[in-house]
Order: sequence, then structure tokens, then C-alpha cells
Amino acid sequence: MNDCIFCRIINGQIPSFKIFEDEHVLAILDIGPLNQGHTLVMPKAHFEFFDECPDGISTKISAAVVKVAKAVKDASGADGYNVLCNNGKAAGQLVGHVHFHIIPRFTGDGVFDRWPAKQYEIGQAEKILEKIKAKL
Ligand code: AMP
Ligand code: ZN
Repeated sequence: MNDCIFCRIINGQIPSFKIFEDEHVLAILDIGPLNQGHTLVMPKAHFEFFDECPDGISTKISAAVVKVAKAVKDASGADGYNVLCNNGKAAGQLVGHVHFHIIPRFTGDGVFDRWPAKQYEIGQAEKILEKIKAKL
């Protein structure tokens, strides 16, 4: 995937601030951090959506997210952190190579101030619940 900026970083064609890598996973600093230490964890193989990753890869990404999240939290002195994976343009994904954001959070930092929660109308929760379960 030559046109994928993250594949190009993985191949060494574009420089990055590399935090961690192994055979399957790379973690780098996000070039446009929401807070200092904002990190991206990605598989070295190109998949667009998280649910396209085979089990062998998704488990390795998850383990790397846990490991790197602890390092980011401890190093940045953050009060907390968000782990975020945007899947698809509608969800805000700008780079079509699956990646997890680890965003250090500080009390009152104003990042993600708004969480536009909705409410289920009567019967809606049961309906979507059954649809999701049928797809498992
Ligand atoms: P997303 O909207 O989830 O696809 O996020 C893409 C992220 O990639 C953004 O937060 C960008 O700041 C980050 N990004 C884009 N190009 C680079 C790059 N060359 N090195 C590091 N991070 C990048
Ligand atoms: Zn890619």
C-alpha cells in the first residue's frame, strides 16, 4: 500500500518518532498531539478497520496498547488516558490504516468536552441488541 502514509512509516520511507516496535506492531508519537505524549499503536500489516484484523494480529495490537498506554501514562504524568480507534470516515478516520490513539488526559484539559449521548426509545434497545447478537 504505497499510498498509505502509515505503511510508508512502517517501511522506513517516512520518519517518525518511534516508541516501540516488534514483528507485528509499531507505536509512534502522533504528529498532531491532542496532549503531549499522544501515541498511535498500529499493526505493521495494512488493514483499514479493526474488525478486519485476524485474531493473531488483534491480540498483539491489544497487548501492545496495554503496554504502551502504561508507559505513556507514567511518562506524561497524566491523570488518565483515552484509547480510541476511529473506523471509517464517518467515525473520523483520516488515515485508512487501523491504529489506536492513546491520548494522555489531564483534569480539565478540555479535550473531548462533549459526549453527545442519546437515549433509547421504548423497544429500541431490544431491537438493536438482537440484531447485533445475530451477527456474532
Ligand atoms: P485518525 O483520524 O484516527 O485516522 O487519526 C490519524 C492521526 O494520524 C492524526 O491524529 C494525525 O495527527 C496522525 N498522523 C498523520 N500523519 C502522521 C505522521 N506522519 N506521523 C504521525 N502521526 C501522523
Ligand atoms: Zn497502511
